[in-house]
Amino acid sequence: MTRHLITSAIPYINGIKHLGNLVGSQLPADLYARYQRGRGHEVLFLCATDEHGTPAELAAAKAGKPVAEYCREMHAIQAEIAKGFGLSFDHFGRSSSPQNHRLTQHFAGRLAEAGLIGEVSEKQVYSNADGRFLPDRYIEGTCPNCGYDKARGDQCENCTKQLDPTDLIEPRSAISGSTDLEVRETKHLYLRQSGLKDQLDAWIDGKTDWPILTTSIAKKWLHDGDGLQDRGITRDLDWGIPVKKGDDDWPGMEGKVFYVWFDAPIEYIACAGEWAEATGRADAEWERWWRTDKGAQDVRYTQFMGKDNVPFHTLSFPATLIGSGEPWKMVDYIKSFNYLNYDGGQFSTSQGRGVFMDQALEILPADYWRWWLLSHAPESSDSEFTWENFQASVNKDLADVLGNFVSRITKFCRSKFGEAVPDGGAYGAQEEVLIADLQARLRRYETCMEAMEVRKSAQELRAIWVAGNEYLQSAAPWATVKEDPERAAAQVRMGLNLIRFYAVISAPFIPTASARMLSAMNTLETDWPTDVDAALRALPGGHAFTVPDVLFAKITDEQREDWQTRFSGTRD
Ligand SMILES: [Zn+2]
Repeated sequence: MTRHLITSAIPYINGIKHLGNLVGSQLPADLYARYQRGRGHEVLFLCATDEHGTPAELAAAKAGKPVAEYCREMHAIQAEIAKGFGLSFDHFGRSSSPQNHRLTQHFAGRLAEAGLIGEVSEKQVYSNADGRFLPDRYIEGTCPNCGYDKARGDQCENCTKQLDPTDLIEPRSAISGSTDLEVRETKHLYLRQSGLKDQLDAWIDGKTDWPILTTSIAKKWLHDGDGLQDRGITRDLDWGIPVKKGDDDWPGMEGKVFYVWFDAPIEYIACAGEWAEATGRADAEWERWWRTDKGAQDVRYTQFMGKDNVPFHTLSFPATLIGSGEPWKMVDYIKSFNYLNYDGGQFSTSQGRGVFMDQALEILPADYWRWWLLSHAPESSDSEFTWENFQASVNKDLADVLGNFVSRITKFCRSKFGEAVPDGGAYGAQEEVLIADLQARLRRYETCMEAMEVRKSAQELRAIWVAGNEYLQSAAPWATVKEDPERAAAQVRMGLNLIRFYAVISAPFIPTASARMLSAMNTLETDWPTDVDAALRALPGGHAFTVPDVLFAKITDEQREDWQTRFSGTRD
């Protein structure tokens, strides 16, 4: 048995995420977590909301709520939607938790002791009207690069150039609109990542099983130009984790908070602490996942994220862990994703273009979305959601192949043999061929799932469903029953056992349908069917079952057209 620590990139708090966000980390992480649990391994699967920074403050202001209240409400909403999609987190935490406050301050203290934090005086824009500094998005003005007049202090949305607030032409406060601004001197802490360059380099060199794409991104940041840059880790904001050196105050840093990029990944660890607290476990229980001196030396840690998050997880967060000088568990494998596009363009949160997670669940059950998103995961390149493809894939794979198989064999059995697995007959040559074929296919499916090759895994699974259909088509118990009822009984027994087999191996992709299939087959036997021959004899003659309701309804052309119009832009 292996112990798997699995984290998904933590979604930002300011709103409901779209399907592109879902397939870029949370959903494939859930697939892997469910698979490893299914194989009998011990899994700790963690995710959380990322709650600090100016976008959270601005979103709260827009909603007319105090930021703490806004974050609490949005966390509850995101948690509910995650549950709706069947995301099987052991804990869905919050980066604003007391655990993360303590740990972030702890790491800052350790890094400072190691001489890895420097104090830097910089010039920042201060608003006299608002009585505060205006970091990042709190300041707007004209982009010096393209002339766009609503550029933000951290980036121009029009030309995507990264900016400093002091770069903006004709700057104004995003809070009050005031132009009564002045540049003042303020002190900030910088993490001396450059001092950890060699250690990070050596660590990356040890990751020979990582995709070149991942290591090359890290190497580029380490070596291109002037090499790895030191980064500011504090901000002049109210909302966030107060700057402290462990438990002690940090002279000169009063009223400042850690910058969100410093505390967000630490939440991966803090979340395990939240999990322990929420489930009444002792601290030692979470530490055995995260501290290699306290039991985590045999943990395999896998992170899931979008490709834009790779530098952060290969350099910034490891710099914090290595720099602490403490034996924290480092990531073993990073699974990153490209982008999912929407119907000829991009998903857009600001324009309401595309399908958002709450809307998706309003129109169809989670499994329809899970199946399409995972079987079209943007792995080697970007992929695109179109309603035509979604309709075709759901109707064909789920309704025609899997759903129809289940419906056909259960209904046929009920009409000819009653609602119990038929006795009589024995598996013959045709069944032996099927079992051997399924055994080989199951091994391929397992290999792809272990390697986190999401699309290929879906293809292998679908091929296993198809093999059952082909068997049923050629065995044709509805014809056999007239000539040789004993033989037909064995064929139907095989068909019913296949339903249970499919339910178990398909659960990581379509957990709800899988549970319905198991319930119809009246069984709780969900051990991984390593030995296919034994698995296809698990339901003996006489075992009662029920015919389930339609497993997957087909998507009609009319529905497809309605949805195409509804989600073309401007969220309702
Ligand atoms: Zn610009």
